[in-house]
Amino acid sequence: MTLDLTEVNKMSRYYNNKAIELLAPAGTFDIFEGIIQANCDAVYFGGQVLNMRMIRKGYNFSNDDIKKAIRIAHNLGKKVYITVNNLFSHKDIHVARDYLLFLNDVQPDGLIIQDLAVLQLAKELSLNLPLHASVMMNVHNLAMIDGLKERGISRVVLSREMSLDQIKYIKTQTDMEIEYFTHGDMCIAHGSQCHYSGILYGMSSNRGRCLKPCRWDYHIKKDGQLYKTKFPMAVKDMCMYTYLPEMIDAGIDSFKIEGRMRQKEFIVNLINYYGDAIDRYIEDPIGYDRTKDYKKIVTSRKRDLSTNYAFGKPGLSNINHRYEGTGKFYSTGKVFSSPTEEPVITDNQLASIAHTINVYMSTHKIIPPVKHLSVKVGTMEQAKLAIEKGVKTIYLSGDVYQPYKPFTKEDIKYLTRHKGHSRIILGLPKMMRDMDLLNYKNLLDELAKDLDGLLVTNIGAITAFSGYDLPLIGDYTLNIYNYKAAEYYKELGLDQYTLSIESKLPDLLNTITHSSLPSEVIVHGLPCVMYLEHDLFANTKHPTDNGYDDAYYIEDTVLHLVTPAGNYPVYKDQYERCHMLPSKEICLYSLLPSLDSLNMTSYRIEGMSYTTKQLEYLIDIYKKALYHETATTLQHFSEGHTLGALSHS
Ligand code: SF4
Repeated sequence: MTLDLTEVNKMSRYYNNKAIELLAPAGTFDIFEGIIQANCDAVYFGGQVLNMRMIRKGYNFSNDDIKKAIRIAHNLGKKVYITVNNLFSHKDIHVARDYLLFLNDVQPDGLIIQDLAVLQLAKELSLNLPLHASVMMNVHNLAMIDGLKERGISRVVLSREMSLDQIKYIKTQTDMEIEYFTHGDMCIAHGSQCHYSGILYGMSSNRGRCLKPCRWDYHIKKDGQLYKTKFPMAVKDMCMYTYLPEMIDAGIDSFKIEGRMRQKEFIVNLINYYGDAIDRYIEDPIGYDRTKDYKKIVTSRKRDLSTNYAFGKPGLSNINHRYEGTGKFYSTGKVFSSPTEEPVITDNQLASIAHTINVYMSTHKIIPPVKHLSVKVGTMEQAKLAIEKGVKTIYLSGDVYQPYKPFTKEDIKYLTRHKGHSRIILGLPKMMRDMDLLNYKNLLDELAKDLDGLLVTNIGAITAFSGYDLPLIGDYTLNIYNYKAAEYYKELGLDQYTLSIESKLPDLLNTITHSSLPSEVIVHGLPCVMYLEHDLFANTKHPTDNGYDDAYYIEDTVLHLVTPAGNYPVYKDQYERCHMLPSKEICLYSLLPSLDSLNMTSYRIEGMSYTTKQLEYLIDIYKKALYHETATTLQHFSEGHTLGALSHS
C-alpha cells in the first residue's frame, strides 16, 4: 500500500493557514484511552522493544495495543507516532527487522528514531512510513536538517537547547516539520551526549535505561573552595504554557508534551489545559488570556517549572530544588540512583573479557590489521609532543578546555608543516551552530589541502564538509553502537568511526566484526560523559566554605563535582559549554593483547585533560604495548582506572 502523505500531513488545528499539532505522551494503553479523548491532535508511545523508556515494567504497548491504538486514533482523526528511538544492540537489529515490518503493516503516522540503523533497515525492508528524528539526534543546525531530509526524515524534534529565535530563523530556511518540547521532564545534558549512566552502570541513557546520575546531590569544589550546592545538575521541568503565542510565531509545527511515565489524570489534565489554550489563541489572539490555567499547572507540578532554553540560557534559575532527592516525581516513589563509585578493574574481569574475546574470535576468522595509535590533543604543546613521539594520528580537538585557546589557523599550518610521519586531523566541536559550520567552511577552504582528515561530531558536519575530499572520521559523539549504523555512516561518507564509549563487550565485538568500516576504540583517557549547555561554574560566584579537606584526589585548579563516591572534573570549553569527565580514567591497557586479535584499526588516547608530561607517559607505554612490551604497573592521573562500559559486559 502506498502512503498518502497529503493525508498524513493533514493536521486538525490551523492558525494563519498553518497547522499546529499538540502531541501527547502515553505510557500504557490504559493511559492512551484517556489521552486520545483529550484535546490533543496526536499521541506518541513505545512498543515493548526498542524505545527510550525501557526500565519500567508494565509500561509500553504490546503489538496488539499498538494496532488497537492506531485504529482508535485514526477513527477520531488523530495521529499516532511510535518511538523506535533507542540505540540498537547487535541483538536488537534482528528484533528491529520484525518489529519494523509489523509497524509498516499497521501504519502509524510516523516513527520517532535515533539510531541510523533504522534508516539502513528502512531501505532494506522498503518501509513506507514517515520517519522523525528524535531529540536524541540532537538536531541543532540547518546542515543536519538538510542532511536528514535528503535521507528521508520528514520531521525533526529539535535539540532542547535551541531558542525560539533560532527556530524562527530555521523555519525561514527549511520546510522540514519542526517539533519542540513544550512541557515536561528535561535533561541537563545535550541530547545523546550523556554517556555516564552507560559507563557507570551499563545502563545507557541512549538506549533508554538512564539511572539519572545528573540528579545526585553534588557539591562543587574549585580553587580550594567548597560550594555546598544542592543538586546542581537537576533541571526544572519545561513549561511553555504562558508562551504558546511565541511558539506559534516561531513556526513550530508540533508541540510536544513529555511524560510517558506520568499518571493518566495528570497528563489528561495537562493536555486539556494546553489544547484549550491553543484553541483560545486561534479563536481570539487579541483577547487571549495566556494565564487561564497556569495556576492549576503550577499547583499540580512535580518539579518547579522553567522555559529552559526557549529564550536563551536560563543559568542557575533552571535548577530545581522542589522534592529533589525524594523520588516524588516518579510513580515508584524512589530515586533512580545515588552516588556510586565507578567499577575498579579486577583480575577476574580481565580474564573473563579475554576469554569472551578468544571464544568469539575462534568462530570469526579475520586477519587482524596492524593497530596504530591516535591521540586527541587540546594544546599546541600536546600536539608537538605527539608529533615528536611519532603518534600516527593526531586529532586537534574542536572543543578546547579553558584556559587553553582553540587552535588558530597559524597553529594548524605550523602543525601540518611539521607533522613528520603523523597525520593531522582537524576535530570539530561537539555542537555546531550554523555560524560554526560557516566558520569551519572558511577555514577548510584555505587549509583542507594541508590536512589529513576531519574528526566529525555530527551529521550536519558530514553533510557540510563531504565535498572537501578529506577522510572523514566519526567521533564517539555519533554514538555508533551497531554495524548497521556503521554501514549507514559509511554510505554517508565516513572513512572510519569511533565506537560508542557505552559499547558493552558483545556489541563492541559484533559491531567491529560485521562492519566493513575501519574502527577506532578509546583505550585510555577521560572522555566527556556529560556535555552541558548549563554553566556549572556559575555556582562558584559565592564561596560558602574554606579549606575543604577530603580523602579524594582533587586538582584544585579544575572544577570538580564532589560526592562521597567520587569527584568528577568539569571543564569549560571556548564556547562556555561544560564537559563533565568520569572520576576514573578509562583504561583498556591490560586488554590490549586480547584486543589485538580484533579487526579494529586504531587505539585512541583521549588526551586533552592530561598535562603534557602525563600524556608523554601514556603515549610511551601505549606505543610500547603496540610492540608487545607491557608494563606491570600503570600510573593513574585521576581517582583510578576503570574499564568503563566494558565492566558491565
Ligand atoms: S543522566 Fe543524562 S540522560 Fe540521564 S536524565 Fe540526566 S541528563 Fe538526561
